[in-house]
Formats: sequence, structure tokens, C-alpha cells
Amino acid sequence: MSDNLQLLRSRTPFLWLNPHATGKGTGDFTLSDMLDAEARLARCAPLLAQLFDEAAVTNGIIESPLLKVPNLARRLLPNGGTLLLKADHDLPVAGSIKARGGIYEVLAFAEKLAMDHGLLTLGDNYRKLAEPEARTLFGQYTLAVASTGNLGLSIGTMAAALGFRARVHMSFDAQAWKKELLRSRGVEVVEHEGDWTEAIRVGRAETLAMPNAHFIDDENSRALFLGYSVAAFRTAAQLRQNGLTPDSEHPLFVYLPCGVGGAPGGITFGLKTIFGPKAVRCFFAEPTDAPCMTLGLVTGKFNEISVYDIGLTNRTSADGLAVSRPSRLVSREMDTMLDGCFTVPDEILVPYQQTVRGLENQKIEHSSAATFPGPRMVLESTFCDDHGINPANVRHLLWTTGGRYLPDPLKSFVY
Ligand SMILES: *Cc1c(COP(=O)(O)O)cnc(C)c1O
Repeated sequence: MSDNLQLLRSRTPFLWLNPHATGKGTGDFTLSDMLDAEARLARCAPLLAQLFDEAAVTNGIIESPLLKVPNLARRLLPNGGTLLLKADHDLPVAGSIKARGGIYEVLAFAEKLAMDHGLLTLGDNYRKLAEPEARTLFGQYTLAVASTGNLGLSIGTMAAALGFRARVHMSFDAQAWKKELLRSRGVEVVEHEGDWTEAIRVGRAETLAMPNAHFIDDENSRALFLGYSVAAFRTAAQLRQNGLTPDSEHPLFVYLPCGVGGAPGGITFGLKTIFGPKAVRCFFAEPTDAPCMTLGLVTGKFNEISVYDIGLTNRTSADGLAVSRPSRLVSREMDTMLDGCFTVPDEILVPYQQTVRGLENQKIEHSSAATFPGPRMVLESTFCDDHGINPANVRHLLWTTGGRYLPDPLKSFVY
């Protein structure tokens, strides 16, 4: 058995540097796909501004700030350096990174449906999609998804706001507050006793058998992937504004929490497409009990191996990351694109969640804290030496992915 597999089996936290990394993917996605997705979101912005007060303040563009976090930097980078947070934990409307892919796929589906029925053309003001004619059409369709929580919030919220029937299949580990929030937004919540892989299997089969229904398939969706990839244009602009545009001399190391892989995969693809394979280096963080992407890439078996196959539990308090098999589409795309993956024990999540609250006043979910050991793990590895990178020139970016609507027991903590 390989050393890596042994480390995974024994739940030992470790960093895996991808020996196949070229920085390039399969070629199945292109810059023009990203531009097309960005243009679709721009067309839909007036609609989003009308439907959601939280999106109106930014004219319907749902985006998060890029934050400098010097206090956290002193904690996580012992030798100094620049640390940034991409604050998707605070994304409006859906409260997590899933706002990017989930809202995008619902909009793409609604746009196509309305066009197919002669209710919309490209040049129209998309506020038309909130008018009674479109709503009546959408009301005849069901949009369904399986989720550990956040994807359901994103898709359920967007679908219900447009007048679709929205049905969210939730795994056993989904948190009660997320189910309640969804129900309050008019979404049907179906509770499953199995994990997310089981919920998606049942949800997919049920939806396929229904008339007028679309299943948003987090194990294989191009639309989700492209919705996430648009984050790269926005982040590139923010980096430029801060004078931090990466190049091969001054690379940006990006640390992303990984569940099934769509969100971190789409963003990795987007950033590498914009800046080139060497200027941006991407590392995925996974819980030691649910390292599905690491397992799929280490073994080369992608989605054909599950964490249960090597005796792991898939139990973690990082609910967005409790996934037993990676996306087929994304794991294949990441095979040669991704720079590495690392695993972290659950015990670190709450302390880091409190640290960022105390030092930087940011409220994040457990899953978002999984990346925090990343910079040190990469700097202590051979990675910089292997690639002739001066560690002092590296900028580190932690992508925080969820937390905006988290109920707030943390308020009572004393730091
Ligand atoms: C879903 C999720 C992720 C990971 O995204 P995947 O597309 O499943 O890899 C990370 N953090 C949070 C908070 C999430 O909800």
C-alpha cells in the first residue's frame, strides 16, 4: 500500500503534493465558457437586485470582499508575509460559496426555459423573469438538489424566489437551522437517513422520474463548475486594486475547503486560466474523516473510490465537506491542474473558528476553518524548493466559504 494511502487510512493529517501537476486541465472548459457565465450573471443582475434586498445594494452582483487580515497572518505565518481572506463566508442571499454555482445554475435553467417558451430574448431586461407570465411557467417546474445544507440554501432560495417548486434532499448531517431557514423561504425539505452520496442518489432517481423537473447534479454539473469559476474574474480585479496581481515571481497560494470539489475546482480552474498555471497555486483542504478528493487523486480512481472503502467514517462537523466520493467531472479536471491537497483533524476547526472571530471579527462555519493550517503545511514542505519559489514572495489566500447565517452562540465566547 502506498504511503499516502496509509496516511489517509490512519487519519493522519498530511499534505499531498500532486506529482502529476502541470497546472492544466482536460481542456473540457475554456476561458470563453467562463466569459459566457460572467455575461449571463450580468444579464441577470437587474433580476437579482429586484428579488433580493441583499443583492440590490450591489446592483444584483453577488460578490464578497477580499480582506487583508494582518492579525490572523501573525498567527498563521510565523515568518511573516501577506495573508488574505476571500470572504465568501459572507456572500449575500445564500450565505456561502454555494451562492456562486447554485444561483448560477438556477438562472441558466430559468433563462433557457423562458427563451424556449418565447418569453425572453437576449436583449430584454431580465426583470421580466419576475413577472406573472414567467412565474406561471416556472411554477410548472420542479428544481431539485441534494445537499448537506449550503447548496440547498443557495438553490432552494433562488428557485423559490423565481416561483419554481424547489425540493431539497438533505443528508442526515444537515444542520437543523439550515432546514428551518429553507422551509421559511418556501422550499420543500426531504430528510434522508443516509449521507450526502445517498441523498443525491435517491434525489436524482426521484427527480428523473418526475415530469417537468430538473436535478442540479453536484456530482457532474458543468453549470455549477462554471458558476464557481466566475469568482476568478472578480478576485483578479480585487487583487489588481490592491497591487497584488500574482506572477511567477510573486505567486498566490490559494487554500480552498473541498467537499465534492465543484466550488474549489471551478475557482482553481478560473484562477489558473486567468493568471496561468504557475502564478496561482491551489491546495484543497479536507477533513481527515472525509478526504474524498485526496483519495480519488492519490489513487487515480477519482469518483470510483469512496472514503468508506478505506475504513473511514465520513463523519465531520464540517458539514459542507462531509462527502464520501468526489465529483467525477471535477476530480478528472483537477488530476493535472491541482497543486496539492491536505487533510486536517476536526479538533482544529472550532479553535480556528474562534480565532478568526476574535482576531478579525469574521463569523465562519467549521468547514471554512479547514484551510487554516494550509500555509504552514505548504511552507514546511518541499513545494517552494521544488518550484524555485522564494517563500518570502508568496501571498497566501484562505478562501472562507460559509457562515453569514450561522446562528450566533459564538457571541458568548470570551477570547
Ligand atoms: C459546499 C461547501 C464547500 C465545498 O464545496 P464543494 O463544491 O462541495 O467542494 C466548502 N465550504 C462550504 C461552507 C460549503 O458549503
